[in-house]
Amino acid sequence: MIALNVLILEDSIDDCAILLRELRRGGYDPIYKMIYTPEAMQQELVSRKWDIVISDFSMPQFDAFAALELLHNTQQDIPFIIVSGTIGEDRAVSAMKLGAHDYIIKGHLKRLVPAVERELREAAIRKERRIADETIHRLAYTDPVTDLPNRVRFREIVQTAFTNAHNGKRPIALLLMDLDRFKEVNDTLGHERGDNLLYQVGIRLRNALFENDVVARLGGDEFGILLPQLAAAEDVQHVIRNLHDCLEQPFIIDGIPIVVECSIGVAMSPDHADDADTLLQRADIAMYRAKQMASDYAIYEPKFNQNSPERLRLMAELRDAVEQNQLQLHFQPKVSISTGKVIGTEALVRWQHPRLGLIFPDKFILTAEQTGLIGPLTQWVLTDALTHCQNARREGIQLKISVNLSARSLHDPHLPEMIRKVLKITDTQPEQLVLEITESAIVLDPKRAAENITALSKIGTGISIDDFGTGYTSLSSIKQLPVNELKIDKSFVTNMLTDAQDTMIVRTIIDFGHNFGLMVVAEGVETREVYDALAAFGCDVIQGYFISKPLPCEQLKSWQKNSAYKI
Ligand code: C2E
Ligand code: CA
Ligand code: CA
Repeated sequence: MIALNVLILEDSIDDCAILLRELRRGGYDPIYKMIYTPEAMQQELVSRKWDIVISDFSMPQFDAFAALELLHNTQQDIPFIIVSGTIGEDRAVSAMKLGAHDYIIKGHLKRLVPAVERELREAAIRKERRIADETIHRLAYTDPVTDLPNRVRFREIVQTAFTNAHNGKRPIALLLMDLDRFKEVNDTLGHERGDNLLYQVGIRLRNALFENDVVARLGGDEFGILLPQLAAAEDVQHVIRNLHDCLEQPFIIDGIPIVVECSIGVAMSPDHADDADTLLQRADIAMYRAKQMASDYAIYEPKFNQNSPERLRLMAELRDAVEQNQLQLHFQPKVSISTGKVIGTEALVRWQHPRLGLIFPDKFILTAEQTGLIGPLTQWVLTDALTHCQNARREGIQLKISVNLSARSLHDPHLPEMIRKVLKITDTQPEQLVLEITESAIVLDPKRAAENITALSKIGTGISIDDFGTGYTSLSSIKQLPVNELKIDKSFVTNMLTDAQDTMIVRTIIDFGHNFGLMVVAEGVETREVYDALAAFGCDVIQGYFISKPLPCEQLKSWQKNSAYKI
């Protein structure tokens, strides 16, 4: 007998007895309560965890509609089955819309046990998804190295501070702090010691601030500090001094004393910005200024906010670069764990700059987005990638090719048409192409993103969610998109063996992806050990330096000849 906590909304003892008999016959041991007023239901919902509610449709003082509303208000997800005489189709439909899971006519009680079994099963699946959702969200909000809030969370905190500040009218200050020469520490002493240093810096910063202030690690060697309740704008100077003071004593890492210096950029509201994103951006500008001037800190001034001449020059040059074929693609193989074969490659763009040499995409993609050059750039990348793909096919090699789409491109209503054209010009099949879209690009404008993703999947291209785990899409919203692939962000993969939290997130994403029938790819695999662990977790596809760095087309061909991973 299976114990079943069942709340029975019924005013007839006889009917209740019939229900119980039916449940017992089905192998359940009902631990039940029979009630027939809203007050009683309210009380029962808080006093015990119920597996299921079985409800009559109408009772003298209560009915199923009111009961559903009550249940809804408590935000509990408990299966709700109506057992009643005929109530008419329209009312049955209304009840379903209000959240009832099934409706059984009293004459057909044989259906009760199968319905209970099914609804318990479904509720268990919903619960599992909720837990997966919550785990990933929690992990997506904290920085694993310092246990502080991460960039995504920090931005939310700053936004909330703005919402609250309208009431209090107190100034808000935002400080961005960048450790000077941290990269040297990392390079000479190794990542592990570098991480240890960041952790200790986090603790000192935390201790130097008031309870209500927030410290977050925004990435690399950058920390964000929010002072949400300054009494007066001048007080910020005092805080800056405290922060510098707290870093003065050397840090001792494995017995080695390390001196840390930092630059701080400050922006304040209402003086410099009226919203969270502007405030963050201006603090960032101030921080660069502090670095440029080699000073301890800088407070934002509008005159800082000019694009640097180098940046302007690069933007102008990028325009020519697209036309003059200075862009080139490198390709990184993706290998199936189960077969050990190369199943595709990811195209990654580089800029062979005549003066500055090879420039990586993180230096120019954002600029391209801001200047509207991303459209021509994306078109160039797609055309070149698919031309390579087509050439390979002529040599008898069938490979899928993955191309990255930036947020701007994803939200461009002309994108599907452009892709259709490029497929036609290069004479490639849509199935050969996989488009990688970052989770954060979807979050930026979910509605438009969904429209384009749907249009693209109709064309027949594959869709992959890139950098998965770093954004904060709910897992259920991904489920609604026609997506084929999830790529676990490399920040979780690379260190997964030394970081329990990373291991957990990688496992959760793999399980979650499989539950929804998606192929799960891990990027940033640098060692055999990580490869083996991913294989044990059931991950499908691997990409990373362990297999190969991204290579120009010709070099990839010779890699292929000598490699153990065959096509
Ligand atoms: P992504 O899509 O996440 O690409 C993976 C990045 O990780 C690449 O950097 C790749 O070289 C690097 N990587 C690959 N394996 C490993 C590994 O084992 N360890 C480590 N540490 N890194 C690894 P890359 O080429 O610098 O590209 C950076 C980002 O620029 C890409 O991130 C992508 O978001 C963007 N990007 C690249 N090409 C394009 C493009 O054609 N269009 C757009 N819109 N964005 C692009
Ligand atoms: Ca990618
Ligand atoms: Ca990625």
